[in-house]
Amino acid sequence: MEPTPKPRVIIRRCPDYDVARITQILLDGLDALELRPFGRTLVKPNVVASGAQFPNAYTRPEFMEAMLRALKARAGADVEEIAVGERCGITIPTRYAYEGAGYYAMAERVGGVKLYHFDEVPQVEVPLYHPERLRDAIFIPEPVVKADFFVNCPKFKAHPWTTVTFTMKNYIGIQDDRHRLIDHDHKLNEKVADLQYVVQPQFCAIDAITAGEGRMLTPIPFDLGLVIMGNNQLAFDAVCCQIIGIDPMEVDHLRLAFERGFGPVSMEEISLEGDVTLEEAQAQASGFRTGLIRVEDYFKDTHIRAYAGPPPSDEVDYCWGGCPGAMEEAIEIVRQFDAGADARMPPLHIVFGRYEGEIPAAPGEKVIFIGDCTTFHGKINGEEVEIPSLYVDRSRLDPHQAKGGDIFMKMANVALRYWESREEPFIRIQGCPVSVAEQVLLLVFYGKARNPYLDPENAARFTIPYLNWRVRQLVQRLQGQPYQIPGEASRGAARPPQSYP
Ligand code: SF4
Repeated sequence: MEPTPKPRVIIRRCPDYDVARITQILLDGLDALELRPFGRTLVKPNVVASGAQFPNAYTRPEFMEAMLRALKARAGADVEEIAVGERCGITIPTRYAYEGAGYYAMAERVGGVKLYHFDEVPQVEVPLYHPERLRDAIFIPEPVVKADFFVNCPKFKAHPWTTVTFTMKNYIGIQDDRHRLIDHDHKLNEKVADLQYVVQPQFCAIDAITAGEGRMLTPIPFDLGLVIMGNNQLAFDAVCCQIIGIDPMEVDHLRLAFERGFGPVSMEEISLEGDVTLEEAQAQASGFRTGLIRVEDYFKDTHIRAYAGPPPSDEVDYCWGGCPGAMEEAIEIVRQFDAGADARMPPLHIVFGRYEGEIPAAPGEKVIFIGDCTTFHGKINGEEVEIPSLYVDRSRLDPHQAKGGDIFMKMANVALRYWESREEPFIRIQGCPVSVAEQVLLLVFYGKARNPYLDPENAARFTIPYLNWRVRQLVQRLQGQPYQIPGEASRGAARPPQSYP
């Protein structure tokens, strides 16, 4: 019997965003891996957020232009379409994120490319069968389920919830908000591992030219100067981890994918190619910081004190995928829009999870309890306070009933809670998780900071895609197009780990 060929990862030097140079690198990669797009070809970038305030959060348009040009150049007569698809983050329409990322102009330059907004397409119920699954089925945008040739094209970044975001974590953007936020808590790594069963890409290529360190929405630019390509997602992410000096088995969603047979993580079992050795790439990445910092430490030396107890779990003592990390991203967004926000922020005490310690709030200092699982019993300013758990066990959450959040509704809700509790020593914000958007709004209200969602520079740019998005959803509803397609009617079926590559 022929031995299974090793998965291949190709590391190429690329000092800048020159489209012609990147196109040639990607063509070389496709040819080396003997890949030709066919059928419905779909590219999934990372456009979690974009525009002037998030310049290093997304797969750059030059990179995407190069990818689409390379795919078109290698497309045969059997290609039905070449498309890009994404659902961005922080409760904004993907149309807004595409605009900020320059994707509409990019797609026009390339020509013949379809852009899917995953928040505007039917969601197909895909059953899962593996024994470790969190749920029996998950909802996935139809274009992903129907894709024949899938290309994963993320941005090389650190992540405050999952340590890193390379190809596997990029899958969080194949779910619309209402489904994305289910299990986006201390089970996030398991959720990311479950998403791997939906589809595995034939081709991976990461924008590691300017990488993002420290965070994922507002990362610090890091000149890595690399394009990395491969044909097995887990092997690919394992190499990316090695480049920044992380053991891939310490990244939980990679460890889970490894245990479930999605590929190797050992360098001995991966064929490394290209014009940059692993050692040279590691030297280039020297000093790259990831983002796994507990919230108590994150806010040291600020006016905010954070306190984190465990989430409802026997396995972990911190909710890495939920509310605390969202608060870290939230403060960075507020800082991005308002450099004076930290200085103006009044002393705040922010509490997560089952917290059993003291909250030394002085008179007039607000205590904010975040999330359904937060509990506290003790004194605040000499007054006895009891915060009960409102947590609903995850097993009782039904993806069929999942509701999406609207940013203006979130704004209204947070404003109402802020107003109602203005005379109280504390405020409680419900949700599991409480989203980044809601936590941004809390900080905006308490810190009297500029509201990114109402920022005059962004308001018109935001409102038009928002209304466009809402009108399209309404028209679809009036035309009787279902938002969710149940499993029986779908083409969706979870795919077991392939024998790699
Ligand atoms: S409420 Fe927040 S902190 Fe608690 S389990 Fe849910 S996501 Fe985690």
